[in-house]
Amino acid sequence: MFRRILIANRGEIALRIIRACRELFVETVCVFSEEDRGAPWLEQADRALCIGAPAPRDSYLKSDRIIAAAEVSGADAIHPGYGFLAENAAFAEKCRACGLAFIGPSAEAMRLLGDKASARALARKLKVPTVPGSDGLLEDDEQTLALAERIGFPIIIKATAGGGGRGMRIVRERDELSGAIKQARQEAQTAFNNADVYLEKYIDRPRHVEVQVIGDEAGTIVHLGERDCTLQRRHQKLVEESPSPAIDARVRRDLCASAVRLCKGAQYYNAGTVEFLVDPKGRYYFIEANTRIQVEHPVTEMVTGLDLIKAQIKVAAGEPLPFSQKTVEFRGAAIECRINAEDPDHKFRPCPGQVTKFRPPGGPGVRVDSYGHDGCRVSPRYDSLLAKLIVFQPTRPEAIRSMLRCLNEFVIEPIKTTLPFLRRMIAHPDFAAGKIDTAFVERTFDRMTKSDE
Ligand code: ADP
Repeated sequence: MFRRILIANRGEIALRIIRACRELFVETVCVFSEEDRGAPWLEQADRALCIGAPAPRDSYLKSDRIIAAAEVSGADAIHPGYGFLAENAAFAEKCRACGLAFIGPSAEAMRLLGDKASARALARKLKVPTVPGSDGLLEDDEQTLALAERIGFPIIIKATAGGGGRGMRIVRERDELSGAIKQARQEAQTAFNNADVYLEKYIDRPRHVEVQVIGDEAGTIVHLGERDCTLQRRHQKLVEESPSPAIDARVRRDLCASAVRLCKGAQYYNAGTVEFLVDPKGRYYFIEANTRIQVEHPVTEMVTGLDLIKAQIKVAAGEPLPFSQKTVEFRGAAIECRINAEDPDHKFRPCPGQVTKFRPPGGPGVRVDSYGHDGCRVSPRYDSLLAKLIVFQPTRPEAIRSMLRCLNEFVIEPIKTTLPFLRRMIAHPDFAAGKIDTAFVERTFDRMTKSDE
């Protein structure tokens, strides 16, 4: 086992990793930017090193400084969390070249599955259903138009390097196609330094269902069931739950088998997620894979009783998976809400600032993953995720009731958060009935919220 792990991240996920390390008797080193000096999670680390200025490119994305910090502090492994360098294959390679274990998949598997177009090609080869669309990247506008007409509008243009809902454009009519390609390319170039795009049919009223997988370096891969992340706003997840209320046992079995097949085909190890869209008829389509731990991993931890971060660390240390497909059991229902420092009344604009009052809920089956406390500060520089509220109950209706109770109990003042918005969504009869799709929020709530335009 490792002696000391450097955590190349911040906020709630840094704290989550520290907690797992503590229980494994592994020491922790946090790196932080000048903006995060004195941040609450740093107090929990055994050591904290400042690595640069507030802008991520000057600190949390500075791979050389992070590796130097690991060397200086005598760490033997790096956990990247999610975001920042978590899906950067060159970083994983660099860590390993410097004799540091990277807690994640191999750089090759990361490249293969992290690039959406190549992951799609692999999925097709392995007979994992993909959304109808281009064979590879888009080149010629004429050919693209012909393909779009064959598939039928609406279609979606996606950046192969895309993430976080960026680099995507929905195209409803042929006249909009070439403009949309240009826009998607531009956005992708700016955000990901890669202008490559491909095309997919736009699936009408889908649900987003993803499968958690984890494998060890000896080649064992298991799935840990699915998470339903259909409740999104602008293609960004807000609420996640497991099991999915919208799939039957057959679809679940096929989805999970497809996810394992894809990961085996990529010789994948460590934690990963295979994402699918499921249409109203129960047909499912692979959309992308995430080669890291995800924000919503606690939902899976609750229904399986497993600790995914500890499992990640163990397999990165060369140990076999601490469980097998046969011993994994699923029980109950878990729901997670993302509580962001954003103002739902003003188009979810970020609302950073000082928190004077932070009163998380409690009670049976309640988990709060957060760095929040009275007096903490939400920085305008980074992601606005302040807390993840997770509830676990024997059944979904009970989980919904518990979530509503917890959302009402949660107090965060004086900054604006997504709490009131989440209360309305979780209380909505269509959510309870499992009758939503990925456009539910836009349809139902965006017109109810005030606009500042
Ligand atoms: P990102 O990597 O930016 O998160 P994804 O490929 O995971 O992008 O897609 C994010 C979300 O966008 C999905 O959960 C879904 O809501 C929507 N989406 C993506 N592809 C399609 C599609 N072909 N049809 C309909 N919706 C889609």
